[in-house]
Amino acid sequence: MRPIDIAEPGDFEIDPPCSQSSYRERSPTKNMSSKSDKYASFIDHPRYGRRPNVTGLNPNPMHRGVHLHWNTTSHNEIVAQFEAVVGKPWPYGDTTSYTDRPKRIANTAIVADLSRQTPATVPVTHYFDLERKCRDCERPFIFFAKEQKHWYEVLGFGLDSDCVRCVDCRKKLQGIARTREIFETLFHVESKTVEQRLQMADACLFLIESNVFSSRQTERVRRLLNSIPDDADVSERSRHLDRMNRILADERKSSEPSVAPKSRELGQ
Ligand SMILES: [Zn+2]
Repeated sequence: MRPIDIAEPGDFEIDPPCSQSSYRERSPTKNMSSKSDKYASFIDHPRYGRRPNVTGLNPNPMHRGVHLHWNTTSHNEIVAQFEAVVGKPWPYGDTTSYTDRPKRIANTAIVADLSRQTPATVPVTHYFDLERKCRDCERPFIFFAKEQKHWYEVLGFGLDSDCVRCVDCRKKLQGIARTREIFETLFHVESKTVEQRLQMADACLFLIESNVFSSRQTERVRRLLNSIPDDADVSERSRHLDRMNRILADERKSSEPSVAPKSRELGQ
């Protein structure tokens, strides 16, 4: 059996533990050298920071009554739990490819409120801070125990959901979704005002720059901007120039491969 892959907070600068008095707290270790602070390069979460939140609580998933989220449990632990409960050898083969992604950070657990989770076959009793690598930008980040509690107990997310992107990339995706909505609404407006044409050009450029639309869509932006009358006011003219420059920059990149999975739906 391979050793269980659990990150130890022995090589980073520990922030003061949170002040939840019911937890057995560990004193922050002194003399932690900043050069060994691997979390310095982690993405900073606006609410939770970038370093683990040490609570001193470290429940063992092998103990009865302790159930961790599937994204917090390694293959070896799942196998051992199954064999302890069922009393038979593990029959499902190697699940390492998807169960060994998590890197649980020791001593960062917080207690879950089972009554607030959406019903599941096995509820989760504790959340741990987890080390992650963003699916989009590949930078490291922490999916915080407190954030999980917020997801599963306040926002009502199911326990089958998981966090695979850093906070920056999640915000970017939300921005893309909002911009697509604006674009699609304006797309269906028959006679667009100058302001609406500029807004649509803005949205289209943002979606090209986010690789949602093909760079061929710069032609649409060009048509929109060319339709703006010469006597439009000064601020509109300057926005117009700014966008034309962005078109030129985008067109210079147009020989590069781009991803345009949904641009066809919008009738380019
Ligand atoms: Zn990211």
